[in-house]
Amino acid sequence: MGVQGGCMCGLVRYECTADPIFMGNCHCRDCQRAAGAAYAPAIGVPRNAVKITGEVKYYESKADSGNMARRAFCPNCGSRLFSFPPFAPDLMVILATSLDDPSIFKPAMDIYTSSAQPWDHMNPALPKFPKMPPPG
Ligand SMILES: [Zn+2]
Ligand SMILES: [Zn+2]
Repeated sequence: MGVQGGCMCGLVRYECTADPIFMGNCHCRDCQRAAGAAYAPAIGVPRNAVKITGEVKYYESKADSGNMARRAFCPNCGSRLFSFPPFAPDLMVILATSLDDPSIFKPAMDIYTSSAQPWDHMNPALPKFPKMPPPG
């Protein structure tokens, strides 16, 4: 099926030819700040299946693991687009809000719920992890 999307002004576009590997909501403080929202709606895809067009800027910050996470945004309109998580070099994480059709987002879990905000009403049916889900 694949996914595609881009920023608000249209200068940055991306196209992913592969199906998403996972979908989930990240409630860590970095995602809250970067997304300007209660959580980041995240879609994991294989990095090598994505073609990016237009100039992208990255902000790097130290993740829980101590490694650097790179979050991409459009330098013109400021829209957050995707990130490269430090824990998986083959992975790219797309923000569902940047998709052309965000309604395809079906989160399967909530992660970093230890920093979820009291005004953030989570779906009680989804599995919750205080930080990262256990591997595997
Ligand atoms: Zn833009
Ligand atoms: Zn996060």
